[in-house]
Amino acid sequence: MSNSDALYSQDESIGTVLNEVARAHRILEMEGHGDMSMGHLSYRDPFGRGLWLKKGNLGLEEVTAADFILIDFDGNVLEGQGLRHLEWPLHTEIMLARPEVNVVGHSHPFKATVFGAGDIEFSVVNNHGVYFAEHGVPRFAATSHIITTQELGKQLAATLGSADAVLQANHGASFVGRNIKEATLAGIFLEKAADFQLALLASGMSYEVPDPEESREKFRRIYPERAKSNFWMYFNRKLDRFEA
Ligand SMILES: [Zn+2]
Repeated sequence: MSNSDALYSQDESIGTVLNEVARAHRILEMEGHGDMSMGHLSYRDPFGRGLWLKKGNLGLEEVTAADFILIDFDGNVLEGQGLRHLEWPLHTEIMLARPEVNVVGHSHPFKATVFGAGDIEFSVVNNHGVYFAEHGVPRFAATSHIITTQELGKQLAATLGSADAVLQANHGASFVGRNIKEATLAGIFLEKAADFQLALLASGMSYEVPDPEESREKFRRIYPERAKSNFWMYFNRKLDRFEA
């Protein structure tokens, strides 16, 4: 089992890192992000050449360390073989806009995609939503189409801003992190938070959104680094049981 919680590191061999990025794909499948062979994560190349992107025609649950291609920021394939996902500009443009982001994910998590198809703002109404207390979860509605051009990638990155996740109306969602652990947790918590808010709305009950400052303080309290690492290790153990 690989569950290192190290921040992005230039020292680790890329094979070790990609094994962990592959596991993140499989964890996300397990947590509701699967949609046939759609969805992909990328990892910023430690040597500045671009990013390692999951190759196409594979489900999230099928990804191994051998299933990545290295592309530069113009989408040229530098290493590896296999189909380059059409949505590569989503990854390159977010990474160009966010130097601290080393992992980008894009998928079609069902609940978050349903939620993003509506016009109600994301609210921090449960513990998973608290993960997004600082920057919220913006909604990108300029297009419902896939992000296949650098211009669209720039627009999506602008809507994402400094947030950890962005809903893409009538399409899916993207999420980011400084490392594999953070990006994966953002993806998982986005789906759980959307599920909760959808259920709350569907119940018809009236409700109040907790005070934003309280939610930000709660974020610091319930999601310190050691808690993120614990959750990340939990999902790795869950994956091992799931795949056993
Ligand atoms: Zn998509």
